[in-house]
Parts: sequence; structure tokens; C-alpha cells
Amino acid sequence: MENATELIFLNPVFTHNIWGGTKLHDEFGYEVEGTDIGECWGISAHPNGDDTIRDGKYSGKHLSELWKEHPELFGNLNYDRYPLLIKIIDAKDDLSIQVHPSDEYAKVHENGSFGKTECWYVLDCPEDATLVVGHHAKNKEELKDMIHNGRWNQFIREIPVKKGDFIQIDPGTVHAIKGGLLILETQQNSDITYRVYDYDRLSNGKPRELHIDKSIDVIEVPAKTVENSIKNVEKVESDKLVELYSCEYYQIFKLTVQTEVTFKQDYPFLNLSVIAGEGTVNGIKVKKGDHFIATSDCESIHLQGKLDVIASTVSK
Ligand code: ZN
Repeated sequence: MENATELIFLNPVFTHNIWGGTKLHDEFGYEVEGTDIGECWGISAHPNGDDTIRDGKYSGKHLSELWKEHPELFGNLNYDRYPLLIKIIDAKDDLSIQVHPSDEYAKVHENGSFGKTECWYVLDCPEDATLVVGHHAKNKEELKDMIHNGRWNQFIREIPVKKGDFIQIDPGTVHAIKGGLLILETQQNSDITYRVYDYDRLSNGKPRELHIDKSIDVIEVPAKTVENSIKNVEKVESDKLVELYSCEYYQIFKLTVQTEVTFKQDYPFLNLSVIAGEGTVNGIKVKKGDHFIATSDCESIHLQGKLDVIASTVSK
């Protein structure tokens, strides 16, 4: 394939989880079986789910290998690993309530690992859906009391969400995906999660491990306001790369293609995930569920058809 170093298509890795469902198979058409498919790691070089290249010159190679062997394809960035991780999450049941540390905390307490900043784009959800984002404790004392005494109803802040909502989850933010939600998550390439509460559920007869002390250490008090945590971006200007958010770690974009769009690819690399519809990218057919990277070799991106895309890159 002539475009082998410009557009890198990936074979996602899937995870099976107690809270997973069947939408990744039924709605996205991924060839993975089971009724507990929780996550599709669409663009990932993480050791727990290192995607392989789908076709072309590097077919079969892991993304982590390509990153190491050809740093020039990704703008020769000063990172020791692929910096971002893109997942689609199908939550049939509630996920545990968790919080992530910052880089500074993880460096000291998690053997030099990265912390984790992440954000969610709500692909689909039922009417009256909610997510857990933040908490109601006013200070550290109240936070400790609520957690140690299991005052979960008073502690947890559930916020109403709808399709097309974008939610930024900074380190220290208490959060949980609720059952029924289908989400695209963009995150730092890290797996460090502290579980605060698991609804007293049992997994194989036992409760899953909680990380109470570390959680209390890292939870930000008071929580960021609801208005500062969420915005609806279901409808954006079409045929244009629209920035949704940017922070220290990433820039997130949405593209709603109605006819066609061409834009310069002047990022070190750009992650693209097709979340709806179908069309072509630089002449190659793409459809809902495809994940690919436009590398440094790719000078411009031309999309045609009717499709929605969530894209991301590292911040400059
Ligand atoms: Zn998280």
C-alpha cells in the first residue's frame, strides 16, 4: 500500500470485564465474541493492550515497536512511550468509583509511572443517564469521614449527561462510568487507578481491592464545579476540524464530515477514530469503528463521505 507510512491503521485489543456488554460487537462490528466486552483499545501502545498495525509495510508490528523504531513518524517527540491511549468503553453495568493520581504523585508512589488525565466523549447513553464526576465533600475532614464511614450517597456527585457530552477528568477527580453508557476515552498512556468504592460488589466471591489511603491523598477537595467539568459538543460546525479541549497532555478535536474536508496535518501525529458513518480518508475507505494515526509523513488529510471522527494529538 503506497500510503503505508502516512496513515497507520490499527487492530484494536479488546478487554473482557464484569461490567462489559455486547455493543462493541453488535454496534461497532468488531470481531470479538462474548457478552462481557468492556473496552476496545483503539489506539494503544500500552503493554496491557499493544495494538498491531493492520496493513501495509508495517503490518503485524506492535504500535510500541513502531514508536521505538521509527520515532520520526511521530515527530521525534521527547516521550519514552506512545503518549496517548484511545479506548471505546461499553459499560453494561456501573464501573467502580475511582480516581487517578497526577504525574508528580505517581512518580513517587508508583515507581516512576505517569499519572493519568483523561476525557470522555459520550457516544451513546439512555435517557436520564448520569455519570459520577466529582464529590460533595467540602474539605479533607469531611472527605475522610464520608469515605471511612461509607456515606456514599452524600459523597458521590452524579451529573446528568446526554449524547455528545464532553467531560474532562483531571487527576484527583472522583469519577465513574455508569451502566448503559458508551464512551470514547482519550487518556494519558497510563493504567494507574485508585478504586474508592465498588458498590460492595463481589467478583469471584470476593470484593475487589480498594485503595482508600491513596485515594484520600489524591482526591481534590472541593471538586471542580459541574459547569466547569462538562459541555455538549454533539453538534459542531461540519466539514471542519473543531477543537473540543486542550490541556497539558492533549488536544481533542471533533470532525463532522457532511460532504468533504481537507486540512493540513502539521501535528507530530494525529489519532483519528471514526465514531459514526463511513467515507474515505485520502482515498482509503473508512467506517465507524476504524482507528488510525496520521503520521508526520502525512501532510494533509482529505475526508469524504458522511462520518464523525474524534481526533487527538499531544499538546505542543
Ligand atoms: Zn479513569
